[in-house]
Amino acid sequence: MTTYVYSFGNGAADGDATQAELLGGKGANLAEMAQLGLPVPAGFTLSTDCCNDFLSSGGNYPGELREQVQSALAAVEGIMGMKFGDPENPLLVSCRSGARQSMPGMMETVLNVGLCPATIPGLIKKTGNERFVYDAYRRLIMMYADVVMEKAEGIEPIDGMGIRSQLDRIMEDLKEEKNYISDTDIPAEDLKNLCDTFKKTVREVLGVDFPDKPEDQLWGAIGAVFKSWNGRRAISYRRIEGIPDQWGTACTVQSMVFGNMGATSATGVAFTRNPANGENRFYGEWLPDAQGEDVVAGTRTPNPLNNDTKNEQNAHLPSLEEEMPKVYAQLYEIRNNLEKHYRDMLDIEFTIQEERLYMLQCRVGKRTGPAALNMAMDMLEEKMITEKECVMRVKPSQLDELLHPIVDPAHEKTSTVIAKGLPAGPGGAFGQIVFTAQDAVDWHKSGKQVILVREETNPEDVEGMRAAEGILTARGGMTSHAALVARGWGKCCIVGAAMIKLDFKAKEMRIGGKVYKEGDVVTLNGSKGLVYEGALKMVDATENPRFKAFMTIVDRYRTMGVRTNADSPQDTLVSLEYGAEGIGLFRTEHMFYGGDSEEPLFLLRKMILSDTEDERRQALEELFPFMKRDIQATLETMDGMPVTIRLLDPPLHEFVPHGRSHQEELAKALDIDIDDVVRRGEELQESNPMMGHRGVRLGITYPEITEMQVRAILEAAAELIRQGKNPLPEIMVPVTCDVKELIFAKAITDRVYADILKTFSLDAIDYKYGTMIEIPRAALLADKMAECADFFSFGTNDLTQMTFGFSRDDTGGFMADYLDRGIIEADPFQTIDQDGVGQLIQYSVERGRKTRPDLKIGICGEQGGDPASVAFCYANNLTYVSCSPFRIPIARLSAAQAALKAEAGK
Ligand code: PEP
Ligand code: MG
Repeated sequence: MTTYVYSFGNGAADGDATQAELLGGKGANLAEMAQLGLPVPAGFTLSTDCCNDFLSSGGNYPGELREQVQSALAAVEGIMGMKFGDPENPLLVSCRSGARQSMPGMMETVLNVGLCPATIPGLIKKTGNERFVYDAYRRLIMMYADVVMEKAEGIEPIDGMGIRSQLDRIMEDLKEEKNYISDTDIPAEDLKNLCDTFKKTVREVLGVDFPDKPEDQLWGAIGAVFKSWNGRRAISYRRIEGIPDQWGTACTVQSMVFGNMGATSATGVAFTRNPANGENRFYGEWLPDAQGEDVVAGTRTPNPLNNDTKNEQNAHLPSLEEEMPKVYAQLYEIRNNLEKHYRDMLDIEFTIQEERLYMLQCRVGKRTGPAALNMAMDMLEEKMITEKECVMRVKPSQLDELLHPIVDPAHEKTSTVIAKGLPAGPGGAFGQIVFTAQDAVDWHKSGKQVILVREETNPEDVEGMRAAEGILTARGGMTSHAALVARGWGKCCIVGAAMIKLDFKAKEMRIGGKVYKEGDVVTLNGSKGLVYEGALKMVDATENPRFKAFMTIVDRYRTMGVRTNADSPQDTLVSLEYGAEGIGLFRTEHMFYGGDSEEPLFLLRKMILSDTEDERRQALEELFPFMKRDIQATLETMDGMPVTIRLLDPPLHEFVPHGRSHQEELAKALDIDIDDVVRRGEELQESNPMMGHRGVRLGITYPEITEMQVRAILEAAAELIRQGKNPLPEIMVPVTCDVKELIFAKAITDRVYADILKTFSLDAIDYKYGTMIEIPRAALLADKMAECADFFSFGTNDLTQMTFGFSRDDTGGFMADYLDRGIIEADPFQTIDQDGVGQLIQYSVERGRKTRPDLKIGICGEQGGDPASVAFCYANNLTYVSCSPFRIPIARLSAAQAALKAEAGK
């Protein structure tokens, strides 16, 4: 018999925190807390396997489930001293979703299950609080109708006509009619009538009665939680976060405790340390007389948990520390114990029912990049974690945030703040304001940089939030949906900027007396919660001593090398700052683009359009000093470190001049007619230039091109050696498919080498000769290729293009469809396709090293800075990865983490 149900409560549990895969994060941590003897309301968790069986069978529960639920429920009843569905002493439960990894607000929850006309009188008698009971009932109807009867049934009402919105409006109308300001002002009698109206509306709108049998409610809620795994929001979040579809969600059924039983009850969310900056201070928010949804929904500005959590927006509200000092002290102690036990920062949810504290959830908390770094370093200093754990505590992608721009403090000083809110997501951002998630997506697609402004965000907005540079909301706290999601992504975000008044119809916002319309530009400082008009200057946030100290520790555990792809002296300098150990790819064609390229480009064009070898040799001679100068500057900057210089690669026609004036200039220089220039250019056109006359093929047709470049490289090195320097050039031949190509170019190299040694009276130049592996045939013949190569470098841009047959310049048109339809899981031009391209890499590493055991092997395609690809390269014994300068820290950390994981046998 399969076990689908796992109980917890009363100091014991069937599972523990290590079982998130099976019990979801929520279920696993509730089990752990129960085992620790913390005050956790008893309950049980239906496993993710159960969800997957349910979904794959088209919505049928596994045969043995009912019996397992019955007995788990009986155990809960025993612990709580109440009975589900009992008219005298009814137990109410919540049904909560919980995947292996937290997906904030993306799936469903139903509270107060078990409340119905049969159990209401008993609960009123027991609590003596009629208002509370009817408030709980109206919440159940609203949630259940929305989640179970509408969403889980796949009903998609038009905007604003969903059952939840309709019921919300009825309640708002009642409040307006009777002049009630807040929900808590509605008295019992009105709530009772409201419940009747709600039920009538549910029948009218959805055509079915609200189920008033506790048993039906329970199974309806469980099914809806499971189905919410395949809800639209959850699917889109999974796509963005790369969460596999087959994980499924668990469903935790737990006895209800109530934070909405009056002034001595409350609910709250806290972090054991500050999740925005990592400070070691207990940090949180709470709401008196409320249920959990009220805090996360962002509809009321929550109170601060303690003094440390006070800020401009909430300083006037009483803290829990002040209001209920005893409960706060107990919570504070739990905070300390939980941190000690988990040895990490936790995100906790609690409820206080009539001054009694209950823990409803704990999980390792999401944090910004800066917070992750600070916490890891603090915990290391506090001796809470080891150095190795410290290295594992920061995700490579979080380093990206640390290197993200911030608003220039000098520019801020001279600018006026137009609005203030809570600093929910780090860094700075500016852009044009838009007011709907859809507009954010559309404007972003058309190349605009936008700031998404919302009253508060909800999970439906995720795609728009993703597309925006920054997010600004008028309501909500640090634990509201927008704040959680933005923090998770490291996106600049400000919430609860209450002075912003939004008018969605007019697509504008008003701050004080001023109106800002859609398209107006604002700047956000997400680290401080400040909004400015216009676009402020941004600066890099690199000079952080903590970051440097962390990277030093990282390098202690890294075994694979990290180099950079740098084509310009500027890139080279930046790469050294970020810790490059060499250059893995220097693309010589860079000197023909951008500033200062006019003269070399003219000479290159002259060379391309030459008709005879003589003409070509002359042009090459003129080009030579430019080539040598660039190479020499780079070798000098990287003195003592290897620099892989690639011979010319791109299709020649890319450089053919099209403008009349350039054509005329060339005609004059070559002493030919302009029509000849045009004709020669046309002759170079190809149908498939990516597979045309490029790379080594140019040197096969025109050996003098190879000769000139090799001479530039070796002569540059020889001159540096004469100056007492230690240049380490590596000559790399691109787009090869056969060892004979390598042998051909090597013969030229040998000749030039001998010549230069003689000219400079040197005994040797320490240089290497190798090839890119970027054509499948080269990968398949790696053993042969290694016969004439000291090193390989995987050009995974071309290797991916040639393996998939996807043109790397044209995938924009269809890649999104492949991803949306799940045909491929990730863009192979961003992360190595381990199944296909990966096999070629693995095969060539093995074959190449069989021929030459000391073969140096690297990767220089774009994927070289992607954490998963770095881990793959480590697993396949590559000597180094090479990536763009800004991704070096990410690659260093990914490589260290891969080594530590391998050591731990993971
Ligand atoms: C490659 O193909 O992966 C590569 C690094 O070369 P390029 O992108 O210049 O073709
Ligand atoms: Mg290439």
